Amino acid sequence: MAHGIFITALNCMDGRCQEKALAYTKNLFENEANVDMITEPGIDGLLAGTHSVVGPEEIPARIEWIRAKAEISAKGHGSTQVMIFGHCGCAGNKVELDGHKEHLRLAKKTVEGWGLFKEVQIAVFNEAFEVEPVS
Ligand SMILES: [Zn+2]
Repeated sequence: MAHGIFITALNCMDGRCQEKALAYTKNLFENEANVDMITEPGIDGLLAGTHSVVGPEEIPARIEWIRAKAEISAKGHGSTQVMIFGHCGCAGNKVELDGHKEHLRLAKKTVEGWGLFKEVQIAVFNEAFEVEPVS
């Protein structure tokens, strides 16, 4: 087991999301934790089975690669909590705010289905790029 506390974040690769997602995740779960940041463009869409760039036939393999990375975080680092982010203005998942919320709810079901984490939370960056929790 790796040293220290680890938590996991599934985030877009978008540079605008990185620092805020890191701060939000630590604040929500564990300020002293190391955050394993797993990024893909439009990750909320991918995990919901839809994407603006990746074709539908490729999505299952992309999801499996995200799952494999999450498994390393969970089993190798002992992470039990995961945060999933989507954001407005995403080049990989070109939907409006409500679309991201819907995709995040579906993404949460996908990640819960992996059985790797005790707690799965979702949040979206709104049009002002503020992070909003999604229920
Ligand atoms: Zn994005």
